[in-house]
Amino acid sequence: MWYDTIETGKSWSTLWSGYTICGECQGIRMTRGTCSVCGDLPDSVESRTMEIDGRNVAVCFAVPGAEGRYEDWVYLRLIEQEWKRPEHLPTPSLLDHRERLSPRASIAILFWSYFETRIERLLRACLCNVPPRLADDTLQRYSGIGIRIDRLYRILFETTYWDDLRDLEHGAVADLLRDVQQFRNEFAHGNPISITDDLVKAVVEKLKDEHESWIAVFNRRATRKNGLRDRIGQCLMAERLPSTASLIQNLCNAIMTQTQED
Ligand SMILES: [Zn+2]
Repeated sequence: MWYDTIETGKSWSTLWSGYTICGECQGIRMTRGTCSVCGDLPDSVESRTMEIDGRNVAVCFAVPGAEGRYEDWVYLRLIEQEWKRPEHLPTPSLLDHRERLSPRASIAILFWSYFETRIERLLRACLCNVPPRLADDTLQRYSGIGIRIDRLYRILFETTYWDDLRDLEHGAVADLLRDVQQFRNEFAHGNPISITDDLVKAVVEKLKDEHESWIAVFNRRATRKNGLRDRIGQCLMAERLPSTASLIQNLCNAIMTQTQED
């Protein structure tokens, strides 16, 4: 499993370590290495000497982290905690079912909530050049996760989140996400045994792949180089320029009229 390679003492939230936001394209890139979106070269990791109050001080290389947020750390740690805790067997009455309830079903539910928060962030990043009230209204109108990754995604990008994943060679992640969405919905609507051990195991096995697939989609859709950010900004500018020109013209006319009257 991918987590066997994590350094001793570190948690699964270390998945978000080592990234930063590219200063050129706003994509998510590794702190060391060329940006995979725009090709920007890595910063020097050597410490630098700065003069502070007349003294030469060595300043270590440091960059801000990338998209990983507090809730990401919480979700990943909770998923890890659930996976590692001793398995608690369901009560005998639950074992009466042919397909027994997974004792770790909560992992699939936690994972789906984690996924929903990142889709919200992805779409907000894509809409960052849209006036905030319009972006908020759009996300409120398309508030369900299913409609966001399908209908809203089609409106914005003429494709779906699933097809983006497949284009980016993350088809196995797309299949897993569809399964989790379906069985989590069944779980929430009266069929708790829909989340099986096999589904939970698949979620944990692909947690790192899914993490990387989300970054790949973010870099395709939410950067200055590839995304809506600049296209929307350009459209807004194009819309605003005529009205700005007209405003300036009106002001000029008003000043001319006032001058003639004086
Ligand atoms: Zn870049």
